[in-house]
Amino acid sequence: MSETLHASCHCGKVQMTIPAASVGVLACHCGDCQKMHGNFNAFLAVPKTEVELSGADALVWYQSSDASRRAFCGTCGGRVLKEVTAAGRWLVSAGLVDGPTGKRIIKNLWEQSKPDWYDLPVTAP
Ligand SMILES: [Zn+2]
Ligand SMILES: [Zn+2]
Repeated sequence: MSETLHASCHCGKVQMTIPAASVGVLACHCGDCQKMHGNFNAFLAVPKTEVELSGADALVWYQSSDASRRAFCGTCGGRVLKEVTAAGRWLVSAGLVDGPTGKRIIKNLWEQSKPDWYDLPVTAP
């Protein structure tokens, strides 16, 4: 596995390099993620300062709660990331990673908000 993961939106305007050493994939089932992703949000949490981002001008930001804002690509509409502002953390949508990640879903968040039409993903230790 390489030391970095490469991620890109559907149209390719937004490109990111993130450290592969970051934690596994987290799956958030909260109401905000359901509305914005159409289903649960699977993401990799990375310190914002460790992400190399190109195409930042293509991002459209949306303040999704007091504590966080989210960015989507203004061209393809791909959900790129959520920023947990105070923590300086970016939650990069896992589906944007190109090629194998070497990671598994390690934790479900907001299980109590999960809609009734799917079962919780199995988590790896
Ligand atoms: Zn795009
Ligand atoms: Zn969520």
